[in-house]
Amino acid sequence: MGLRDRVALVTGGGRGIGQAVSLRLAALGAKVIVNYVARPEPALETVARIEAAGGQARVAQFDVADAAAVQEAVTALAAEEGRLDILVNNAGITRDGLLLKMKEEAWDAVIDTNLKGAFNCLRAAAKPMMKQRWGRIVNITSVIGFAGNAGQVNYAAAKAGLMGLTKSAARELASRQITVNAVAPGYIETEMTSHLSEELAARILAEIPLARLGQAGDVAAAVAYLVSEGADYVTGQCLHVNGGMYM
Ligand code: NDP
Repeated sequence: MGLRDRVALVTGGGRGIGQAVSLRLAALGAKVIVNYVARPEPALETVARIEAAGGQARVAQFDVADAAAVQEAVTALAAEEGRLDILVNNAGITRDGLLLKMKEEAWDAVIDTNLKGAFNCLRAAAKPMMKQRWGRIVNITSVIGFAGNAGQVNYAAAKAGLMGLTKSAARELASRQITVNAVAPGYIETEMTSHLSEELAARILAEIPLARLGQAGDVAAAVAYLVSEGADYVTGQCLHVNGGMYM
């Protein structure tokens, strides 16, 4: 129970990778705030699963892309809980399209959610963490932010941008014992990747040395490490969880 008495906020914590992270941090003893934007059911179900296992959790609805809403929600949550120790910036979307055909809205939506959303949450959460002089922040980036991918200039730019955000925030916040790291998943079986054609899935699989798609739990394990005491001396880093498809 390495995270007993810690309070964690997981954005997009009700589904996919976020849900696995919420369950894992709760199993380690943290009280988990499960954020969602549009779908309350999976978030409520995640809270129910945590409580059924003897843990503590609550839901929080807000849009990470809405700076004012994030500021208000995170400030209120930290005040109500008396602290905020861990932030996992997991919320993310895709709006794929080839460069020449990409609509401005598709670019803006992905940058606003995946990059500015992380900035909004990080800025709001850093205040209570700085007062506490302790915090753990993990940004979920992607192999696509490193390798690039045709049809995903918006997504790749946002995820690559997260690395600059991670390293700069890590430098700024280190003196207060706040670490900022990233996890870069490869292809993980969630709703986000469920639309891949069989042919594309087979092609991706052929490029993965460990010869399987990842599971949300594989990513949650990396997050659990980065927020653990064992990672106290690790900041500004990216942990790749991709079965070896990008080295
Ligand atoms: P899912 O599509 O399964 O879940 C996305 C989650 O993000 C949902 O909980 C959703 O909330 C939430 N969300 C979306 N927009 C917002 C918003 N504006 N404000 C708050 N929450 C929001 O995605 P995955 O679990 O697959 O992905 C999670 C993260 O991991 C993303 O950042 C993704 O880019 C990254 N990733 C995923 C990979 C994969 O292969 N699956 C690979 C590499 C990175 P709601 O339920 O309310 O809609």
